[in-house]
Amino acid sequence: MISLDSKPVTKKTRRTGSPDVVIVGGGIIGCAIALRLAEARMKVVVLDRGEPGAEASSAAAGMLAPQGESATPDTFFEFARASRDLYPEFAREVEALSDMKVGYRRDGTLLVALERLSAKAVHERAAGLAPEIRSGLFIAGDHWLDNEKFAGALVKAGRRAGVKFHTHSAATRLTARGGRVESVQFAAASKAARKSLSAGTFVLSAGCWSPELTGPLGLRLPMSPCRGQMIEFDAPQPLAHVVRAGHHYLVPRAGCRVLAGTTAEYVGFEKAVTGEGLRSILEGVMRIAPVVKSFRFRRAWSGLRPDTADHRPILGYGEINNLVFATGHFRNGILLAPITARAIADLILTGATEHPIDAYRPQRFG
Ligand SMILES: Cc1cc2nc3c(=O)[nH]c(=O)nc-3n(C[C@H](O)[C@H](O)[C@H](O)COP(=O)(O)OP(=O)(O)OC[C@H]3O[C@@H](n4cnc5c(N)ncnc54)[C@H](O)[C@@H]3O)c2cc1C
Repeated sequence: MISLDSKPVTKKTRRTGSPDVVIVGGGIIGCAIALRLAEARMKVVVLDRGEPGAEASSAAAGMLAPQGESATPDTFFEFARASRDLYPEFAREVEALSDMKVGYRRDGTLLVALERLSAKAVHERAAGLAPEIRSGLFIAGDHWLDNEKFAGALVKAGRRAGVKFHTHSAATRLTARGGRVESVQFAAASKAARKSLSAGTFVLSAGCWSPELTGPLGLRLPMSPCRGQMIEFDAPQPLAHVVRAGHHYLVPRAGCRVLAGTTAEYVGFEKAVTGEGLRSILEGVMRIAPVVKSFRFRRAWSGLRPDTADHRPILGYGEINNLVFATGHFRNGILLAPITARAIADLILTGATEHPIDAYRPQRFG
């Protein structure tokens, strides 16, 4: 167990009437933590300034692929792989609680295995690939889900487990005194009046918008939004696997739908879909699979990845005693949701966690 200087929420520290935990930001990270805490009988409120799950968590491709980020097995790779291994149970649990299907797909075994394929074998696995492709690696353990459906199912599962959601409610300020956050002020889009919520513990999971709330407290979170654009097509036949070359990929969705991604642009909080973005995705995926030329366009969108100075997440307690960070998941927030939820819930419930999050503590930025 890694012991961290935090105060677990016990019956003694509970406030009557107020929630035990207020979670600011209802993306996949905030909602996954909320579900874990509600299952442990905590009174949990999630504040989201829009619809929960509608930002980066819906914009993503839904790949659960630790190998996508690390060429060599380092500690982050192990962390991501541990989260990937929690997915079968997590997806099953969310499907059961929400009565929704989340498009969770695994090909064969869950064990990670790299298999070098001949040109013939690569072309047999995915029709329509470029003839120049001479070899490939098949990662048998990789799986993926429909993150848009999953985000919706997670919110429904949370509600059923007792989580209270305040939607269209933007947190405007965290008020701290004596090293503790006392309350969060928030504003509903439709109403002029500001409201306030007190709680024993606050979780900051507002994705790339998290620094807006820590800045006024004097806490530096070196984060920036990284825009990723996506295109969805209808293909003539279903795609059996994720096909990927660098940051360009094709990801199967239900039926014959296929997602094509992506871009990585540092253009502030601008969520436009641009001609240049679409061009670069199309060129990239057509280099992998010229057959995309004949796919029928359905829609395009963009989302903002919460990037950090070292591209790693920010997890755990910082300077303020009862404020827990769960943000900065950059390209891997879907993949890392189950391990993040467990680690953060452990910290809040017991003050410690067995999951190795020490390297991701907010204090590392000084
Ligand atoms: C194009 C693209 C492809 C991706 N592909 C993958 C992939 O294949 N696999 C993978 O693992 N990851 C992928 N990602 C990354 C993943 O989407 C993110 O890491 C993850 O969604 C982050 O989740 P989050 O809950 O922290 O943030 P978000 O989903 O952005 O949620 C933050 C929430 O906080 C709310 N909020 C913000 N400010 C406030 C406030 N002041 N008050 C109240 N609420 C607030 C927002 O409304 C939002 O709902 C991709 C991202 C993009 C953009």
